[in-house]
Amino acid sequence: MIPLIDLFAQYNTIKTDVDNAISKCIAESNFIKGKAVAEFESAFSEYLGSGFCIGCANGTDALELILKALNIGAGDEVIVPALTWIATAEAVSNSGAEPVFADIDPVTYCIDYDDLEKKITRKTKAVIPVHLYGFPAEMDEIMKISKKHGLHVIEDCAQAHGAEYSGRKVGTMGIASSFSFFPSKNLGAFGDGGAVITDNSGLAEAVRKIANHGQLTERHRHFLIGRNSRLDAIQAAILSVKLKHLDDWNFIRQNIASQYNLRLKATPGLTLPYSDTKSKHVFHQFVIRCRNRNKAIELLENKQISWSIHYPAALPFTDAYKYKNHREMDYPESARITGEIISIPIYPELRSEQLALICDQLNRYVQ
Ligand SMILES: *Cc1c(COP(=O)(O)O)cnc(C)c1O
Repeated sequence: MIPLIDLFAQYNTIKTDVDNAISKCIAESNFIKGKAVAEFESAFSEYLGSGFCIGCANGTDALELILKALNIGAGDEVIVPALTWIATAEAVSNSGAEPVFADIDPVTYCIDYDDLEKKITRKTKAVIPVHLYGFPAEMDEIMKISKKHGLHVIEDCAQAHGAEYSGRKVGTMGIASSFSFFPSKNLGAFGDGGAVITDNSGLAEAVRKIANHGQLTERHRHFLIGRNSRLDAIQAAILSVKLKHLDDWNFIRQNIASQYNLRLKATPGLTLPYSDTKSKHVFHQFVIRCRNRNKAIELLENKQISWSIHYPAALPFTDAYKYKNHREMDYPESARITGEIISIPIYPELRSEQLALICDQLNRYVQ
């Protein structure tokens, strides 16, 4: 069986360092806040070239904390792509604001900035581009439109640790950005974790307060009614070990993607992922597109090759958001692509013979 991702294989490549980091945390028995969290926060903000990093419980919370710190809530609208993990929209809903969907670009699969601009109303306060599958959204256009209309840009970087757009790391272009350290992300913990990134010191302080019961450094001084959303010390210590390998792992993902592109490009009917020289794609997923998806699935399953669909339904058509009464024609690209996409295994530990088998099977694809 070839899995979609092999976290145990990854652990085995860094076992000693991870085990030592965990043991050190246990020896200190300072499980909440403390040195390990502060060390990871400064290492990650330095890696990104950003002023502040605030660890939190997960990537969904990171978005919600940013929205709350920006005072976005009831009566406001926030534009999100129709095709993304549901967390992007959920965070908006849970802040009290209303998510408004924009269709995706059929080539990059990221938010369509023309549709984004059409969705702006007097109530719009922010837009959340998602760097989907590890490919950066069209940030120059998004920043330009947002500036023109006075909107905040919040980058959802949950799938794009280390990705770059025009030489800049994603997560450093908007007012703030969210990261997830869910185990299967490009930088993943051994459980849940997340972070908020920003260059704005006031916003950083507001996020820190909200995430820690309204407190800053002084205990029992509650500046506001906050909540509890923290990154655990053990997770932070593991993330500090893994961060050192992130660029290498992303590089291997890119090499695997190049191999896939080379070996699959001659097979008619398979559309391979878009990339360009302006952007550094970090291939959180390798997503191919084909009309006869069931045939591709059958070929993969014949050799026990794992696959997935990210995502089977665009958000406007999920039960959760059906109250908005959207029709397929409102989001034609998102509606079409969800019937054609399939994600195949991509992770740094994928072996060359496994990659060869996957390509051999997909080379048999006929439309
Ligand atoms: C994973 C993910 C999130 C949420 O992250 P969690 O840590 O699981 O809460 C948000 N947005 C996108 C696009 C994601 O892929």
